[in-house]
Amino acid sequence: MVTTLKTAPGIEFLCSFCGKRKGDAKDWLLGFEGSKEKSIVMKYTVTLLGKWDEERASKPNALHFCSSACQNKYVCKNYGDDTWGT
Ligand SMILES: [Zn+2]
Repeated sequence: MVTTLKTAPGIEFLCSFCGKRKGDAKDWLLGFEGSKEKSIVMKYTVTLLGKWDEERASKPNALHFCSSACQNKYVCKNYGDDTWGT
């Protein structure tokens, strides 16, 4: 799934949950997803920064959220409640 579009000028970010365009918004949230191959079998994990980081936002495994609501919904939908809020 493509969540970022490389178009001039600069990189455009879309919300990983609702698809909203970032534009000039500042209060977006950033997260990263990946699999822990060694410790947990076939279990994908997500790391939530709780803030925006422009440099790390362009990483291939980065997740972009327009709001904490979208972040929560995305995590619940993809990872379930067991990986959230503990
Ligand atoms: Zn959103």
